[in-house]
Amino acid sequence: MTDWPTELERCVRCGSCRAVCPVFNISLQENETARGRLARLERSLQSGRFSRSDWEAFSRCLQCGRCVDVCKSAVPVPDLIRWAKRQCGGSSGISAMIAEEILPHPARLRKVAQNARRLLGWLGQATPRTSGLRLRFALPYLNRRRYIPCIPEKSFLEQVRDRPAQGTQRLALFTGCGPGLLFPEIGSAVDTVLAKLNLVAAVPNQPCCGLPAWGWGAESAARESVQSWLRAFPEKAYDTVLGVCASCTAHLQNDLSPLLAGTPQAAAAQSAAGQIEDFVVWLYRQEWRPDLKGIKVAVHVPCHLRRGVRGGDKITPLLIESRADVIDLPPDAASACCGLGGSFGVTNAQLSLAIGEKKIKAMLAPRPDVIVTSCTGCLIQLRELAERANASIPIQHPAVLLAG
Ligand code: SF4
Ligand code: SF4
Repeated sequence: MTDWPTELERCVRCGSCRAVCPVFNISLQENETARGRLARLERSLQSGRFSRSDWEAFSRCLQCGRCVDVCKSAVPVPDLIRWAKRQCGGSSGISAMIAEEILPHPARLRKVAQNARRLLGWLGQATPRTSGLRLRFALPYLNRRRYIPCIPEKSFLEQVRDRPAQGTQRLALFTGCGPGLLFPEIGSAVDTVLAKLNLVAAVPNQPCCGLPAWGWGAESAARESVQSWLRAFPEKAYDTVLGVCASCTAHLQNDLSPLLAGTPQAAAAQSAAGQIEDFVVWLYRQEWRPDLKGIKVAVHVPCHLRRGVRGGDKITPLLIESRADVIDLPPDAASACCGLGGSFGVTNAQLSLAIGEKKIKAMLAPRPDVIVTSCTGCLIQLRELAERANASIPIQHPAVLLAG
């Protein structure tokens, strides 16, 4: 069991983390650096009081981990922030309802997506679209003028649910909510790539991995989601579970086992966490490279992929070995966060867009043919940012590019 107050004591207040924090770089508020957030956490611990306003302040951290990269004391800032949010009571209101009542339940998730599609379709008749791609509405909870992706008539999960595996490897697909419910072209592209290797992955009925609940500090809801995930992907049922979204994969690889430690599922969780693999990391190991010669690609490496996924970024080497012209972004731009950070992008919309603008500008400047990223949250953010910049450039999951 991690002793978080001891972890907190490792911060020597040196301030090296200031310059790299994307939130501080926009707000220029000391209390929005890792150092400032940790000082707040220390004050809360000393007073023995964690309030709702503390939760809101901690929620202005993207949990991107850039501060950890430069911290000589290796203070696990995102973990401490999540722990602090748990002390404040985790999520509340609509986010608590989503975390507890929807995310762990596959059937409810699908129902919510269907109802949201009907609602957006109805609103779409009353409000002109700003583009052919997505809608822009001030919905009750989303009253911050973010774009909302179109929801397909039939999601990938509805198309292939309960499909068994075929081929020499017993593979299963964990799509994550983005590819599973919103972007069927990603699941289809993964299928196309696997078909080139004479493989079909099983697609069991599946819940959300619980990452949003985990990020909100809603630990019991996050635990319920991973318990549900473990029922969908029992240990030893497959050789490998391929995670399509890098952020969901990082969460399961790192947090599934700790979340179920001390429960009857602890051993199964540990084994299942070892079986889940990022789709691109797995694909890189296979002896298959498509010919992408002449395609100029900008890669956005999601923070969760860079710092959380076993095997790290294999998008870039896979594309290079497939003869794509991969753009060498300046180091600062290459490692920059897109600014979404899950619900951070909704509750701090203007800040999130301001952080992301720097990233999209750097990626658009060398005029790529396509931008790729393997987290669907980043994908949604980059598409919105590109659209706001009037850039008509495809922004895709790498599977779509690789499938041809
Ligand atoms: S978190 Fe690390 S880099 Fe930031 S002030 Fe503390 S010790 Fe220094
Ligand atoms: S995790 Fe990211 S947003 Fe949070 S303090 Fe560190 S650098 Fe800043």
